Amino acid sequence: MTTESAAAAARATVYGYPRQGQNRELKKAVEGYWKGRVSAEALRETARELRETNWRQLADSGIHEVPTGDFSLYDHVLDTSVMVDAVPARHRVAVEADALDGYFAMARGTEDVAPLEMTKWFDTNYHYLVPELGPDSAFTANSDKQIAELKEALALGHSARPVLVGPVTYLLLAKPAPGVAEDFEPLTLLDRLLPVYAEVLADLRAAGAEWVQLDEPALVQDRTPAELNAAARTYRELGGPADRPKLLVASYFDRLGEALPVLAKAPVEGLALDFTDAAAGNLADLAAVGGLPGKRLVAGVVNGRNIWINDYQKSLATLGTLLGLADQVDVAASCSLLHVPLDAAAERAIDPQIRRWLAFARQKTTEITTLARGLSQGTGTIAAELAANRADLASRASSAITNDPAVRARTAAVTDSDTRRAQPYAERAASQRAHLGLPLLPTTTIGSFPQTAELRTARADLSAGWLDTAGYEDRIKSEIREVIAFQEKTGLDVLVHGEPERNDMVQYFAEQLTGYLATQHGWVQSYGTRYVRPPVLAGDISRPAPMSVRWTTYAQQQTSRPVKGMLTGPVTMLAWSFVRDDQPLGDTARQVALALRDEVADLEAAGTSVIQVDEPALRETLPLRADAHAPYLAWATEAFRLTTAGVRPDTQIHTHMCYAEFGDILRAIDDLDADVISLEAARSHMQVADELAGAGYPREVGPGVYDIHSPRVPEEAEAVSLIERALLSVPADRLWINPDCGLKTRGWGEVRPALEHMAAAARRVRGSLPHAES
Ligand code: GLN
Ligand code: ZN
Repeated sequence: MTTESAAAAARATVYGYPRQGQNRELKKAVEGYWKGRVSAEALRETARELRETNWRQLADSGIHEVPTGDFSLYDHVLDTSVMVDAVPARHRVAVEADALDGYFAMARGTEDVAPLEMTKWFDTNYHYLVPELGPDSAFTANSDKQIAELKEALALGHSARPVLVGPVTYLLLAKPAPGVAEDFEPLTLLDRLLPVYAEVLADLRAAGAEWVQLDEPALVQDRTPAELNAAARTYRELGGPADRPKLLVASYFDRLGEALPVLAKAPVEGLALDFTDAAAGNLADLAAVGGLPGKRLVAGVVNGRNIWINDYQKSLATLGTLLGLADQVDVAASCSLLHVPLDAAAERAIDPQIRRWLAFARQKTTEITTLARGLSQGTGTIAAELAANRADLASRASSAITNDPAVRARTAAVTDSDTRRAQPYAERAASQRAHLGLPLLPTTTIGSFPQTAELRTARADLSAGWLDTAGYEDRIKSEIREVIAFQEKTGLDVLVHGEPERNDMVQYFAEQLTGYLATQHGWVQSYGTRYVRPPVLAGDISRPAPMSVRWTTYAQQQTSRPVKGMLTGPVTMLAWSFVRDDQPLGDTARQVALALRDEVADLEAAGTSVIQVDEPALRETLPLRADAHAPYLAWATEAFRLTTAGVRPDTQIHTHMCYAEFGDILRAIDDLDADVISLEAARSHMQVADELAGAGYPREVGPGVYDIHSPRVPEEAEAVSLIERALLSVPADRLWINPDCGLKTRGWGEVRPALEHMAAAARRVRGSLPHAES
């Protein structure tokens, strides 16, 4: 063991904590407020109680400095926009009439005004509201929320550190406001923003903050010299005034890289770095710049975004090395604990033999304080914890759950030919054409049909025991019959069963795979009041029985047209789950891929000629730094091909992607070697069709002609013009006609006419093609 004593006592801290409360009290209060059932007063009181509970929990478990200002009624980036008064013009009236209602109007929109756009917070599954800025944006300081929460914590007797989104990250996350030129760079507003931040910092100092944390995760991405200069200028300027608090600049999710020397030289008192595997390189880079003499280093050694216990021995070794590199070394989670559920102890349904491997926010807090104690007072003072940790890790490493010999043998035996279709695309395409006999411009949908209130009630009744399995299955069957009948009547060419049996496209399969765990209370914030319970990839993955064959076959029995089988791809399964940290992601992907490959084979054997493997998350899981893209895309595309490549040449493999700019993964899309890809395109006027064609994409494409994210029903003429637009870049014998995405969030009232218009548009364009008769 490395350390027996440290120069200054290590403090334990975190950057943020789950906001929702043990029973999602915040969701209930906020949604109650929206519905008029909860007063503004009551909402504020619930929020205050949640903060108080969180701080007490943190302090009781030994956290020395609690975060403030990380709490949010909706989103901390939106809070930052309010703090600097970056309110879009269209929301100004609402904000001035009532700050709280105006806040929610920016978040959710109203009947008359659109909300701010929402997008993913780096590579997490948390979504923030994108600041909208332009050359005319002016900022003013509004420290109210930050000051109020700091005072609350201080009044409760806590040692507290306000946490703000840093100015560089704030501007780098912003986009040009509507009406502003696309190429406007919000970072050009830095000189206007910095005095406002300086004012907020001075206010916080006056209110009693010794330290303030400025989060700059945008600096862990590849940055231009101009952006790095902006960071240098920012901290030179914010570090200047005498009446300011001590500044801790925090980075997480990856290594700081070129930004590390910039921040190390800056006149700030502390730096927080991520020392998990995701940020490998920070340790060596820190040594290379000669450490942080005279500064405080906050070491994120406990992974803040996975749900596994820490390896104490490994963390203590890292911390021991760091002691030689900074004057003060403190212990923290690598990032805000916002990204993990609250309490693993609440998971009573999980086998205690597995639960001991899990650490949610509360358990991670204890890990941090334990490590800080070991670092300050010597590892002898945490001998019992070290022994227990070693035993827990050993039980995980040697468990039958994490070591299924059959799965291991099978993944080890995968060869390159398992991941390649037997025939090149052109030959396959010919056999598929002969086998399927589809018209030009074939029509299809992406998989799900409206998840009606009846379906959701039936599922709830089933789990409550009010409906038996047979009764539930009857409802699923009748839904499938209706969906098939509608598609036949509308004249669609490749039908779907509608996915009525699926609660969620990942959870549905996770529940049926061995090695995957569901949690009962493992909620994490996706955005606003929407929380998700990601399943946990806990062990080696295998498929005890077919998962989707029965419903697909049932649907096929109702029609003579081809019914498309529908699976969630391996990359998306990983992206929307908590992943294992004890093996490379690519290994986990390969296990999931093999389980799905068996499902594909079973679907084919049952007579399914078209099988779609959805990968909507392929783009969003792209690593933050460019040098990590190629290795990621290599295992991701290989996992997709391993899932799909075992089929006969005349079986047609489809894939689907959405929510993304595809421009930077065109090569990877090609590498999937899917016969047909459907993509979101309606809103961007078929831009993706041009991009794919421009890149020489040789296979079939269905750029969406119906924007399903809007309740609007497009007219036939609109679909016709989108199809004609697509035909400018994709030849008619390779173009499919479909909506942008699944229809599960829409109502039948919109879906029925929209698909009728889509099918009519396809027929009309087909009729006008030169060789329509052949
Ligand atoms: N097949 C899924 C559906 O239609 C695809 C969903 C998605 O792309 N997110 O619902
Ligand atoms: Zn989609």
